Amino acid sequence: MSVVIVGSVAFDSIETPDRQVEKALGGSAVYASLAASYQSPVRLVGVVGEDFTQEYIDILDRKNIDIGGLEIVNGDKTFFWKGRYGTDPNERETLVTDLNVFENFKPVLPEGWERSKWVFLANIDPELQMDLLDQCENDPFVGCDTMNFWIEGKPKVLAGVLERVNLLFINDSEVRQLSGETDLISAAREILKMGPEIVIVKKGEHGAFLLTKDSLFITPAYPLDNLLDPTGAGDSFAGGFFGSLAAAGDVKMKNLRRAMIYGTVLASFTCESFSVENIRNLTLDIIKERFNRMVDLVRVDKEKI
Ligand code: AMP
Repeated sequence: MSVVIVGSVAFDSIETPDRQVEKALGGSAVYASLAASYQSPVRLVGVVGEDFTQEYIDILDRKNIDIGGLEIVNGDKTFFWKGRYGTDPNERETLVTDLNVFENFKPVLPEGWERSKWVFLANIDPELQMDLLDQCENDPFVGCDTMNFWIEGKPKVLAGVLERVNLLFINDSEVRQLSGETDLISAAREILKMGPEIVIVKKGEHGAFLLTKDSLFITPAYPLDNLLDPTGAGDSFAGGFFGSLAAAGDVKMKNLRRAMIYGTVLASFTCESFSVENIRNLTLDIIKERFNRMVDLVRVDKEKI
């Protein structure tokens, strides 16, 4: 089943201690769509300026991502983000966020997309997330991501979005910020009171956990010894998670658990290259091999203790 994904489509400039890239393809919707596309058809909603290149559109096209919801605005510029990592890849500093085309954007679902059953609101202005939600007609399963920029900048609108979504992806520092709790499980429990019935807390190299009212699932991160650039890891996790869940067709706990491992695997591929270099060149076989290795890493024989 296809997944509608709305979020940023961006030019990213990234600095790490060893390397620097300028205006590479990025954006929450781009990473999430590429990650989801290996398991489910994707319908992307977003906006770019006239400076966006055909080469980048082709990258999405080649993965059969339907860009029927991608608006191109003449006379304006694509969203631009610049970030810097120190020696600890979990510590990131945002240097520039130029919303550009996103300042005046109103997402519009192309005809037929409003009845989609799976909707992922990737990290973007919560007002746009709300606009998109208002157009959905078929009581879809809705996941949402956000970040400190919006938690600080638009807390009220974000609270309104949270009341209407089924699932929130959020990282460790942001869940603390949003809930006011320091302990992560307590923080996640606070989020469950705000609306979503599922919350997924991402902890970078320390993995992720999923919490509902009556269940908890924990996964480590895939161990990497060649991490180059973590940009987009969270979006890839969420996109991979959603692609897996939509392919499974329902949100039973066994599917949520599998989607957690699948999302972890997609995030790990993103970290091994700059921009979308790795995640755009995968095959399902390559993904499956790492998925199986990941499952083996945590498998234990219950009967033998
Ligand atoms: P992640 O590393 O998963 O948190 O996502 C990084 C991506 O998010 C980059 O490709 C950025 O272009 C995009 N991004 C950064 N800040 C924002 C923002 N305020 N709104 C939407 N997307 C953003």
